[in-house]
Amino acid sequence: MQKIRLTIWNEFRHERENPEIAKIYPEGIHGALARGLAADDLEIRLAALDDPDHGLSDEVIASTDVLIWWGHCAHGEVRDDIVEKIHTRVLEGMGLIVLHSGHFSKIFRRVTGCSCSLKWREAAERERLWNIAPCHPITREIGEYFEIPHEEMYGERFDIPTDGEILFISHFEGGNVFRSGVTFERGYGKIFYFQPGHESYPVYYQQEILQIIGNAVRWARPVFFRQMSAPQTPALDKITSVNTAPVTGILQNIDGTAK
Ligand code: ZN
Repeated sequence: MQKIRLTIWNEFRHERENPEIAKIYPEGIHGALARGLAADDLEIRLAALDDPDHGLSDEVIASTDVLIWWGHCAHGEVRDDIVEKIHTRVLEGMGLIVLHSGHFSKIFRRVTGCSCSLKWREAAERERLWNIAPCHPITREIGEYFEIPHEEMYGERFDIPTDGEILFISHFEGGNVFRSGVTFERGYGKIFYFQPGHESYPVYYQQEILQIIGNAVRWARPVFFRQMSAPQTPALDKITSVNTAPVTGILQNIDGTAK
């Protein structure tokens, strides 16, 4: 079986600008994830906001099966033309895993069509994640619940579409709850939003977290890539109706053009 081509994208600003964060993630969050996820069936590539084209050239996007996204303070600096290309590729089949503060990224708001707003609090509180979909491939080898000793609180209401499948519900020490693991399908692409991963805590070294993200990468692997279009199509069976109406059909393209 061919390896899954995984691109891990990180904003990579906190780790370079804040020495305390750099101590936790000396190689960046993307570097830590790459080490933690490394496996024979994965071909992992790293990309960051300040790389040329954010590390997401046309060639990289075209050769990515699954894209992991971590961003926080610089969502607005992500180029709209690149977001557009990622969105198109998701619709064509690319998997997308959005982590933590990526809830407010341009790409997550684009694929959900929602504001993705939520409540938050930085108080190093304990998070307990309840696995409410124990048969789902993303929760494989995860028990009924597990805990993260210290995490930023994300609380409801989380403004996301209601067609998502909820895999994890979190309870925080301070009393809030949150839909912390949710899947969506858009076009031919599979999307997983996973809440843990505030940069001030070593969350991406925790075994359960890596297990879940690794499971999600395999789950989100494309079945195929197929361009989105609206083709005019011949009839399978003989049509006996007589068409006396004027034919006004035009070919419409996914980029909004028509001819
Ligand atoms: Zn955070």
